[in-house]
Amino acid sequence: MRTVLAAVMPKPYVPVEIREFPEPDLPPGGALLRTALSEVCGTDVHLWHGRLSGVPYPIIPGHVTTGTLEAIRGSLQDVEGAPIREGDRVVFFDVHRTCGRCLACTAHRTPTRCPSRRVYGITDSAAEGLFGGWAQKVYLEPGVIVARLPDRVSFEAYIGGGCGLLTAVHIVERSRIVLGDTVVVQGAGAVGLSTAALAKRSGAAQVIVIGAPADRLDLARRMGADTVIDLEGTADDRLARVLDLTAGIGADVVVEAAGSARAFEEGVRLARNGGAYVIAGHYTNVGDSTINAHEHINRKHLDIRGCWGSEVGHFLRALRALEVYGDEVPWQAIGARTYGLGQINEALDVAASLAVPKALVAPWRDSDLSE
Ligand SMILES: [Zn+2]
Ligand SMILES: [Zn+2]
Repeated sequence: MRTVLAAVMPKPYVPVEIREFPEPDLPPGGALLRTALSEVCGTDVHLWHGRLSGVPYPIIPGHVTTGTLEAIRGSLQDVEGAPIREGDRVVFFDVHRTCGRCLACTAHRTPTRCPSRRVYGITDSAAEGLFGGWAQKVYLEPGVIVARLPDRVSFEAYIGGGCGLLTAVHIVERSRIVLGDTVVVQGAGAVGLSTAALAKRSGAAQVIVIGAPADRLDLARRMGADTVIDLEGTADDRLARVLDLTAGIGADVVVEAAGSARAFEEGVRLARNGGAYVIAGHYTNVGDSTINAHEHINRKHLDIRGCWGSEVGHFLRALRALEVYGDEVPWQAIGARTYGLGQINEALDVAASLAVPKALVAPWRDSDLSE
């Protein structure tokens, strides 16, 4: 029996373990991906801290993953019907089993709120098999959306963008940015960086990123931010700066990609009258924010929109963005360090400490697996 090594998170706060899994017998329409790269993103840190509800531990983390298609049982097509073959460099949409029949999927047209929806590396248990990217191979069950990675896009660029890029595509859609807008992005993590890049390419005349530390703000500039504001000052300082940059009016669009209750309180002040505020960073419950509904929403005529998860369309648009803008946007620079499976706990520590925007996982990298 052939076996595959995978990193398993048994439960929150205990070290991740390397375990051996049998290579799955593929059902018709199923496929096996040989992993090139996966990522450690903020969600994985949340998983490790037990801050997401309903997670079926033990899990193999790693939701956004790319590699080479090793085996297909039967035939496999992309969403446009083009054949996908063994040996192709591919990516897959980590969200699967969205039902297409429930209230969320149909009447409300909010498939990211479908109760049947599952996500590789987050809501799939290791007891069911190789459903996560921190593994040498990933099982792609029938029905998973698979796409060929465009020739121009490297594994590193795809994973550098990763889940943050998919979220950013959704954010830009929710923000309804129009030509000439000023967009403020709160947060210089993987989501904020990709949002800055896409906002600029969606017609924003001015993109302002608020965040820290300095090296991430430098990267934000390289991604497309016109101005960066360090978190060192006070919220009043940052408001004054944004007003200064917008002739005293405030931003047309503010994006919260910081995951902080204080950021929300600040963001409603940064938006102009009649502006929009997209909340995308509160993926876990970080507590209450205090705002004055009269002052900050009603009188301001502010439009506040949530943004949860991503859909197939965002996945496909992310691929297109990487293909078209990959030469000018350094997505690969977001994935600052790469770790083998043997160093996976170190990778998780680095991600938790926010030392890098994102750590990458290369499961086949020569490493000491006796850890
Ligand atoms: Zn549904
Ligand atoms: Zn993620």
